[in-house]
Amino acid sequence: MSIHLERQLDTLRSAYQLERFPSLAIRLDRLGRVKAMLSENETAWCEALSHDFGYRSVDQSSFADITTTIKSVNHALKNLKFWMKAERRTPDLSLRMSGAKTYVEAFPKGVVGIVSPWNFPINLALSPLVSVLAAGNRAFIKPSEATPATSALLESLIAKYFSEGEVSVACGDVDVAQAFVKLPFDHIIYTGGETVARHIMRDAADHLVPLTLELGGKSPVIVSNSADLTLTAKRVAFGKYFNAGQICIAPDYLLIAPDRLESFLAELKTAVEIIDSSQGSADSVAVVNDRHRQRLDNLVSEAESQGGRIIRFSGTNKSAYQLSVLIDPSDDAGINCAEIFGPVLLIKTIGDLSEQITYINKSSHPLVIYYFGRSEAEFRRVACETSSGGLVKNDVIFQYANDDLPFGGVGGSGMGKYRGEYGFKEFSNNRAVYKSGFIDVSGFVTPPYSGMFRMVNK
Ligand code: NAD
Repeated sequence: MSIHLERQLDTLRSAYQLERFPSLAIRLDRLGRVKAMLSENETAWCEALSHDFGYRSVDQSSFADITTTIKSVNHALKNLKFWMKAERRTPDLSLRMSGAKTYVEAFPKGVVGIVSPWNFPINLALSPLVSVLAAGNRAFIKPSEATPATSALLESLIAKYFSEGEVSVACGDVDVAQAFVKLPFDHIIYTGGETVARHIMRDAADHLVPLTLELGGKSPVIVSNSADLTLTAKRVAFGKYFNAGQICIAPDYLLIAPDRLESFLAELKTAVEIIDSSQGSADSVAVVNDRHRQRLDNLVSEAESQGGRIIRFSGTNKSAYQLSVLIDPSDDAGINCAEIFGPVLLIKTIGDLSEQITYINKSSHPLVIYYFGRSEAEFRRVACETSSGGLVKNDVIFQYANDDLPFGGVGGSGMGKYRGEYGFKEFSNNRAVYKSGFIDVSGFVTPPYSGMFRMVNK
């Protein structure tokens, strides 16, 4: 198996060696083929996704996996010529640098490995691909084994739209994934859980392969006393129902003052009823498989058995798992530290902003912190007194739809950022270029150096 992977990598590397700096036109053509592969096969993609999830509505798949990715392609098609321009840098004013020209130019890194997860199996494989191809690289994708039909379709469509030297796919289970991340790539981007990320980092160390790690964790929602509870409930409910809450940036737990809890729960009930009535039974997504359903059941039942208050919303949608809300489970409950990644909301009744910040800072840095409220001063405090990959006021999840924002975590939620220009830079070798001026000042750089250093340092 690893010989087969090595052969695929060799083909990509040889193609890269023959064309180390693809022109703008070549890159635009490759991006155009990503777009065609998405739009010309939308029905097949949506069917494969629904098959893998047990049920996934066409509209959710189309919006989250197809349209969102096409939007990223369009953003790159429009902006790539600007991203590829060398960025001038100002040489300092010393005599030695007089007449020098300095700039930074982005060169491809080579062959980039993309390891993608199951929750948005198309977007999270192809959105990195957009950045990787924009930066002029070759790509090798290892999609998730948890969504086999989608991964198989990806493999066959990539082979149809790209040559083996441009983009390749390796499907398979964990054994394939483990062999894949041991390959001597020029860069790997991994999207998935923290435990596997640690293994990948160890494997990548053998070849000093640089990594972008897109992980998850527990993203909190701070509900300020100034928050509009109707808006907060509506948006949090969306975050828990969309893709059945199986989103790395889904709200995980909510911090709210005890005296606002009941009003919030009433608003949440209304928001859930509206989603249910407008979705009917069709526009929903199921929990991906029995293992994950069991994992959620265990988290909820353990917290309930330890005395946490639980509310189970009933509804008509096809997601086998209706939204459950757990309120103030005991400190020992696993749900306090495990990422939920499904339609369960944890609520902690902590109202004071300082205490909310202290609570958030007790765990590793989240992928995103959501603040609901009207106070700019409070929002600024959250920004300055916490750390996270992203920070959002009065909304959830939609920050991802902005291709001009970097996406990624910090600390336990990941390293490196991509999408838009940030993705282009992440997968480029941003080379420093220094062209010396024509004035010969070599007299200043021959011993004794003491005079030169005095000049430079003053
Ligand atoms: P997963 O099980 O699909 O695994 C992700 C990928 O890792 C797969 O391709 C799999 O083959 C590979 N893999 C598994 N074991 C491996 C190993 N030992 N070595 C190398 N590769 C291995 O997905 P998952 O881990 O269940 O994904 C869920 C996690 O991903 C959550 O924590 C979620 O928050 C996170 N996530 C993050 C983002 C983001 O952009 N930051 C997006 C989606 C999901």
